[in-house]
Amino acid sequence: MQCNNAMEPNEILVLLKTPPAERPALFARANKVRKENMGDEVFLRGIIEFSNICANKCAYCGIRAPNTKVRRYRMSDDEILEVAKRMPEWGQTTIVLQSGEANSVEENKRIGKIVARIKKETSLAVTLSCGNRTKDVYAYWRGCGMDRYLLRFETSDPELFSKLHPDCTLEERLQCLRSLRDVGAQVGSGFMIGVPGETLEILARNIQICCEFDLDMIGIGPFIPHPDTPLAGTLNAYHDDTDMYFVAVAVLRIVNPDAHIPATTAFDAVFPGHEGRNLVLQRGANVFMPNNTPKAYRGDYLLYPDKPCVDEDTGDCSLCILGRLNLLGREVGTGPGHTRKKR
Ligand code: SF4
Repeated sequence: MQCNNAMEPNEILVLLKTPPAERPALFARANKVRKENMGDEVFLRGIIEFSNICANKCAYCGIRAPNTKVRRYRMSDDEILEVAKRMPEWGQTTIVLQSGEANSVEENKRIGKIVARIKKETSLAVTLSCGNRTKDVYAYWRGCGMDRYLLRFETSDPELFSKLHPDCTLEERLQCLRSLRDVGAQVGSGFMIGVPGETLEILARNIQICCEFDLDMIGIGPFIPHPDTPLAGTLNAYHDDTDMYFVAVAVLRIVNPDAHIPATTAFDAVFPGHEGRNLVLQRGANVFMPNNTPKAYRGDYLLYPDKPCVDEDTGDCSLCILGRLNLLGREVGTGPGHTRKKR
């Protein structure tokens, strides 16, 4: 299955190479495609980063297992539920439970249990984002009530992928996405824009893969080097032309007209003062993911440095987004915000 606007990599490449003077027209086209296919609603999907315990060593990630500077935490089920129950009053209809990759029988059961509790005690749609697992585990979580799953492939280039991810292969990651589709979950994935070594050809292939997998949701954000990782001090492949981050989102929208595309937090880290995510919402995005992680834990979940809103408290991000949407003339999405794909 493919998305409904499949393009050859060369066609995608031509769009990515849009000269700077013509980019405003490209952004306007992406915004129009978004409006025609997804409307003016912006769905709020509140994230709770419930655990930063991770067994992996992803080369770009601030909470990778070897980083001993990180204070590790795991929220209790009651702490998670306490936040979840407040989310509807903040206009949020989906909860996104995100953690490091801690794959054990015990942890997998715990996650299933919390999903079942959220489904029983709230009206929220549930998205999990907890890394690679077997199809059996995904099926178990689906049976507990999981609606969606987010698992970014980060780059489509197998060699680059293995340099970034010593713990798994690109094929294994893509197989996880197929397994998620098989068990009936709505599937979200995506990639980093501009990891060192990325070429425009790789970026074009990243976008094409999103289309090939007919993803329900696609999250992309600029690569930002973290000082406590092997990629410390490296430069984003587009560091001298940061408008390319927006070009990537605009082309992604044009190629994937009816996928949910979030304005990811990393854009605000690169373009502070809320500028980044506001611009992405005007260049293709239709989803916003307020951070609901309690303040006591936020500073310990830094996948990249200068993450915005670390000092805010639970619920503050949701108030901030309402102001942003007002300014942009957009509405808060109602209903669960499930996939628009007709399968
Ligand atoms: S990106 Fe995810 S799996 Fe990789 S080290 Fe960070 S938390 Fe762990």
